[in-house]
Amino acid sequence: MAYVIYQEGYVIYGYGQTKEEAINDASEWTDIDKDNLKETHEANHGDMVIEKITKKHLICLEAQSDVSEAFHCFCN
Ligand SMILES: [Zn+2]
Repeated sequence: MAYVIYQEGYVIYGYGQTKEEAINDASEWTDIDKDNLKETHEANHGDMVIEKITKKHLICLEAQSDVSEAFHCFCN
């Protein structure tokens, strides 16, 4: 498994093989409040979300020059 952090309805901020790695990656772009990350099923528009993704999709994300495009990926 891997993890991605995104703002629901907006953009992906980071990803990594572990939660820590994803949080560190996302922290380069915005302030991440670790204790306030929602899971996908409980997220509302605008919430910061941490979601489990497959390793395959992680590779997919890493290959994107513009990660905001990653929402359009269907490899999962
Ligand atoms: Zn993918």
